[in-house]
Amino acid sequence: MKPTPFRSMTSRFKMRCSKIVAALAVAAAALLVQTPESAAQPRPQELAANTRVIIDYIDPMLRFPRSQATLDRLRKRQVLEELSMFLSPLRLPRVLRIRTKSCGVVNAFYDRSEWAISLCYEFYEHLEQIAPQTTSPQGFTRDEVVVGGFIDAIFHELGHALFDILQVPVFGREEDAADQLSAFLMLQFGKDVARTTIKGAAFTYLNNRNPRSRAEYADEHGTDAQRFFNYLCLAYGGEPEAFRDFVDNGVLPKARADGCARENQLVRRAFAKTILPHIDVDLMKQVQSVRWLRPSDGRTSK
Ligand SMILES: [Zn+2]
Repeated sequence: MKPTPFRSMTSRFKMRCSKIVAALAVAAAALLVQTPESAAQPRPQELAANTRVIIDYIDPMLRFPRSQATLDRLRKRQVLEELSMFLSPLRLPRVLRIRTKSCGVVNAFYDRSEWAISLCYEFYEHLEQIAPQTTSPQGFTRDEVVVGGFIDAIFHELGHALFDILQVPVFGREEDAADQLSAFLMLQFGKDVARTTIKGAAFTYLNNRNPRSRAEYADEHGTDAQRFFNYLCLAYGGEPEAFRDFVDNGVLPKARADGCARENQLVRRAFAKTILPHIDVDLMKQVQSVRWLRPSDGRTSK
């Protein structure tokens, strides 16, 4: 079966397909609870891995030797091990495989034929390439882009995986729904994590080219510009104080911003009805309390 691609080399900056589990609803209509960040937060190692998530760092293809360093960095950071711990609250009816690998393209994708998420070394390297060396004129930092962009890829593909494995009904385009789930998850770990990840995700759509032909609008994904605003809108709708600057400075137009709380509420409700029933809520609270990001994340030398 044709995999769902995240980004393709053929249209380098065009998102072919972009990007868990956390969030808490005490009841179907209840609000999700957020846990404030603090230095005393537990580390991921205090959680057990999800035994239904099989992880694998696959050696790079010989023709992509530079990716060995990327693999080494991801393995040293224990990205997949911590992702499995992150997913510990999730009750999966079947095994989900998550692997890092060479793809030959800048991509990340979920393959329904084998219930597997592939995170390509080329995609991580692409993020390091496009991330600004210093803070960009629009206020995006290098760490935000590398960390947020990569987490967005993981969460978005996780969205595809959960829609498939849990048979979640989706109105609208699946690609939009996967983006929404990604942004929603980013907002469940406090304002600092939300700022880092949302900004990083949004940046990856910021400078991308616009469609040049009518046919490109037929793509299953929204345009990059639309996806940029969608992430910021869900973030502003869920954390208005943390993202108000994007409205005040005109990046997120007020006409859209006024409806973002409602947009966020719709996603929250969808999550509560479709995915939350498959989550161990007590474990999810633990996952939300963990400090997942490190100050060194996103930096090449560690
Ligand atoms: Zn996708």
